[in-house]
Amino acid sequence: MSVAGRRLLLGTALAAAICAPLPAAEPHLVLLSVDTLRADALGAYGGESATTPTIDALAAEGVLFEDAHTTIGKTGPAFASMFTSLYPPTHGARRNAQRMRSDIPVLAEILGQTGYEAAAFISNWTLRADLVGLNRGFDHYDEEFTQARNAVGVMERHADDVARAAERWLRQRAGDEDRRGRPLFLWVHFSDPHSPYLERKGFTPPLPPREQRGSGWQRRWRYQSEVNYVDHWLGRLSEAIDELLAGPRYTLFVSDHGESMGEHGYWGHGKNVHWPNARIPMILAGPGIPEGRRIEAAVGVVDILPTVLDLLELEAPASVAGRSLVPIGDEPAGEARPRYVIGDKHSALLGRSRRSAPYEDPLQISLEVDGAKVLHDFSKRTTVYFDLTVDPEEERPLQAPPVDLVPPLGRRLVNWYRDLPKYEARSGNVLSEEDVRQLKSLGYID
Ligand SMILES: [Zn+2]
Repeated sequence: MSVAGRRLLLGTALAAAICAPLPAAEPHLVLLSVDTLRADALGAYGGESATTPTIDALAAEGVLFEDAHTTIGKTGPAFASMFTSLYPPTHGARRNAQRMRSDIPVLAEILGQTGYEAAAFISNWTLRADLVGLNRGFDHYDEEFTQARNAVGVMERHADDVARAAERWLRQRAGDEDRRGRPLFLWVHFSDPHSPYLERKGFTPPLPPREQRGSGWQRRWRYQSEVNYVDHWLGRLSEAIDELLAGPRYTLFVSDHGESMGEHGYWGHGKNVHWPNARIPMILAGPGIPEGRRIEAAVGVVDILPTVLDLLELEAPASVAGRSLVPIGDEPAGEARPRYVIGDKHSALLGRSRRSAPYEDPLQISLEVDGAKVLHDFSKRTTVYFDLTVDPEEERPLQAPPVDLVPPLGRRLVNWYRDLPKYEARSGNVLSEEDVRQLKSLGYID
């Protein structure tokens, strides 16, 4: 019998004895994330060359959000948005290796105050505690980079290494009488699909027919093999979680941002606000969540904190920029919500600029609502529009908004950006030579 089962039996006997119901056990929260993961690289999202049975099975068990977006195509800043429900100018981690403000509530800390134990296993150099500060509230923050990813550096841990580290920790915890009864917030982050894209033998998709190959097809093919590989290790980890974490749990699967693969003349992520960077997969399963449902509404990473806290019957901070999506499985009520994305340069990572840079506008900002998108480029001083109902790939910029809104679309974007609380870290550690080397190898220093 499982630990939970034994506790339940004991609890039932005790409750009968004192004639009062026991409070239900608090559910665990498991956050499984994959860096640089395009939704369309997953079978559940229609990826034709995907072999992703673990993630597809989670989608069949829970609710899949068809139209989820990040706030920015950068790892540290995007996770900071997830854990604070704030946009990057407000939480302060606007670029990789820039520190998040220390005076705003974060998910792990909020859960810790209600008795949760929190553990994170990360695999991307930019998530190191001394860079972004996302370790706040975690009792255990595993950032051991032990495997060489490639000749350049060790900035990524492989999926097998991360999954095994999390499993070892869970096994040890399960054997600890004092801790296994506590609710757990577990975050495990995989980074394999991040460039450089490696060919994962045994996980490669079928070769595309010659006539469909086009420019960059090998890179896309290798990228898909990395995604399939991560799915395999997510499966191994999920089995360990089933075995070692007793009691009810919510599982959230998400990515921090997508990846442009030649669209709009760009390979990579972070600098623009187009859909390949902005769109992410997002799946949620757990007690009371309907199985196999798909939600069309526009949602985003800023909705994660209020949603999770709502599910756990905890109050969200007043400052949140997102909304709760509870009841999960219903299309959110009310008007279509505006959704904003930011694109920013990689620099400002180096010591001097980290210490003294005044607030600087990002490269691009965008707003999407009602099937229309407006994009403002600060460096080019241009504003263009897209009619997403006929041009979902954002390939045909318009000079005027495709919808009549009051106030107009462009004005809404300007007002949002003007009124957004902005914060620039004026202090912080100067990056070590090792940090600079690793961040360069990730392509994060211009
Ligand atoms: Zn990332």
